[in-house]
Amino acid sequence: MTSMTRREFIAISAASLVTTSAGEKPAEAEAEAAPQLKPWYTTMRRCGQINFNETDPLTMDVNAWMDYWASLKVNAVLLNAGGIVAFYPTHVPYQHRSEFLGSRDLFGEMAAAARARHIRVVARMDCNYAYQEAFEAHPEWFERQRDGSPRTNSECPWLYKTCMFSTYFTEQMPAIYREINQRYAPDGFFTNGWPSTGPLEVCYCPNCLKIYRDQIGSVPPEATDARSAAYRKFYEITMNRIAQIWKLWDEIAKQGNPDSVYVGNLGGAFRTVKDLKRLAEVAAWFNADNQGRWQPDSPLWMCAGQGRVAQSVMNGRTITNVTGAYCTGQPDWRHSSKPAPETTLWMAQTTASGMVPWYHWLGGSPLDTRWRKTGRRFYDWLAAHESHFRNRRSLANLAVLYPQSTIAFYGSHGTHERQLNGTVIDPVDYLQGLYYALLEGRFLFDFVHQENLSPDTLRPYRALLIPNAAYLRDDECEAIRQFVASGGSVLATFETSRYNEWGEPREDFGLRDLFGVSVAGQVIGPANNSYMRIDRMHPVFAGFHDTTILPGPEFRVTVSHLPPDLLYASVVPAYPAFPPEMVYPRIPNTQEPAAVFQQEGASRIVYFPGDVDRTAWRSGDPDLSRLIANSIRWLMAGNTPPVSVLGKGMLELFAWETEPGFALHILNYTNPNMTRAYVRELYPIGPLQVEFTLPAGKRISRLEALRAGRSLPFRQTGSLVQFDVPSVLDYEVLALT
Ligand SMILES: [Zn+2]
Repeated sequence: MTSMTRREFIAISAASLVTTSAGEKPAEAEAEAAPQLKPWYTTMRRCGQINFNETDPLTMDVNAWMDYWASLKVNAVLLNAGGIVAFYPTHVPYQHRSEFLGSRDLFGEMAAAARARHIRVVARMDCNYAYQEAFEAHPEWFERQRDGSPRTNSECPWLYKTCMFSTYFTEQMPAIYREINQRYAPDGFFTNGWPSTGPLEVCYCPNCLKIYRDQIGSVPPEATDARSAAYRKFYEITMNRIAQIWKLWDEIAKQGNPDSVYVGNLGGAFRTVKDLKRLAEVAAWFNADNQGRWQPDSPLWMCAGQGRVAQSVMNGRTITNVTGAYCTGQPDWRHSSKPAPETTLWMAQTTASGMVPWYHWLGGSPLDTRWRKTGRRFYDWLAAHESHFRNRRSLANLAVLYPQSTIAFYGSHGTHERQLNGTVIDPVDYLQGLYYALLEGRFLFDFVHQENLSPDTLRPYRALLIPNAAYLRDDECEAIRQFVASGGSVLATFETSRYNEWGEPREDFGLRDLFGVSVAGQVIGPANNSYMRIDRMHPVFAGFHDTTILPGPEFRVTVSHLPPDLLYASVVPAYPAFPPEMVYPRIPNTQEPAAVFQQEGASRIVYFPGDVDRTAWRSGDPDLSRLIANSIRWLMAGNTPPVSVLGKGMLELFAWETEPGFALHILNYTNPNMTRAYVRELYPIGPLQVEFTLPAGKRISRLEALRAGRSLPFRQTGSLVQFDVPSVLDYEVLALT
């Protein structure tokens, strides 16, 4: 802050409290009526990040950059302050100043330019690496390999990896934060790359070895291995340390500016190891660093899925999701623009799932500037309709259990990968298969984190869907049982509740009483050419005409047999697929159920002993997907769906009660690049016939298609609103007010 006094700065900061963004009228009336007590980031709707590189002080045009961000009407920008490289004239020893900083204070200039445009400033930090100078002065700050040598960055070996159990995190980073506080009092601090939701890392520095010795009794295993007692202690110690550091950094942030906040780097979409529930307990703001499809073969919906995972622990609190405007993928190109339709659909999923977009570019002097228009177009549109993105609650009445323990630990049973009889298992595949069936079935659903299962969190939902939550705590099983006792319905697959949260097997399913069958043997599979025989018609088999067999799951738990009068679908064991002369069932008929259907009062239960969800995902077989969707429809029979959408296309739906009324978000995934990056062209769908059920007693007077930018005719009968959506190109938001 070169030209502003601290007092002036605080005045600007206070002004921006009542200014939603540059160019908009301050919400004075509202601010006068009720002083804004909510932290600033809870009302943030758009943010942006320019990630400086070390040479940027040579050429960076501060006003041009900040004009760009102001043109996006962002509420906040993330600007590199320090950590690996300081972009301000630091005096903290061993914090490396940009070698090109010269007499500039790039962070200070950018921060002042942002504030002059009423944009909040979050200091983007990196706590993960430091230079050799720091390593030589404070070798105790750094991680060691097993042989005692320092860990260095694979691409930049002159950077040394810091140890989060060291005083680098409790003394050096705080010293840097305090210096930045004193000079700039930013509105927040964000750390790149830390703590992440990924696997734990074993460090062999003397301090860590002492912690292992004193608190664990041995060095924990390097691989994720929840069966190891040492690993479990290490997990606890790591989560405690993250919580301790997070709180410390948040306190320090607030010393500089009471409105300030510390935000760490989370994300991981479906794939998480660190305990999200515990992270959410310390996080006032959850930032999902889920910038795009890092694997070319990943499905398009991994941003919406990220939103659902984050919502499952944040319960309506602030969640941002970073959109990398550059090419995420393999290989990635950090300085090339991602195709606009892919980028836009990523931001659309962010807002549809109730998160706040955070648009990200690297390097202050881009040669490729195509990304600029993409961001401006979406943010312009978003700003014009901001109120419709202020959500109060989800209208979904269907819950999906987010099985974090299984996703974290099931895949690595003391090795890097779980192998079931020689086949490598990806524990995310069960959830992906269910997700796909939910999209195909056009269901509205929310995720509920397994550690949040309680009568309170489950109250809005009529059914709970459990995609192979093999690892469940006793009290989580009990919460599911209570949900059923109170009339809730459940779908569960495969090894659900077979183990406790650390993977220790139970004698039988923890939910045996709900499933109606017991474990009777080992997991069978991988089975090629096995079937499910339809023994007796049931609504779950709707649409399966002219067949009495369905494709069987690749794996199944051997379960106890059912008497013929309860048997609707039975296992046909695998038989040879080649050569054709040998392709006939050796055992055409068994009493082993392939599906168990139960009903008591309002509560219905479907249990599949097979991995129908995973097999549906891996094979792409539509019969299995339909079987899952039919099961959900049967569980939900008698409940009016909050939303029904008819018409061709593959889409994802979200429906929210918003501050002005209600909003239905439709994401159009109908695209040859739905499961392989990048979307390069959009294929419009429509017309779609929509039925939207309002809460009792609500009436609407207006229906707007926010992307199309026009009002639509509708008819309301009681609480049912019916309308047609003529066309959806990439995304449409129907605002009902
Ligand atoms: Zn260490």
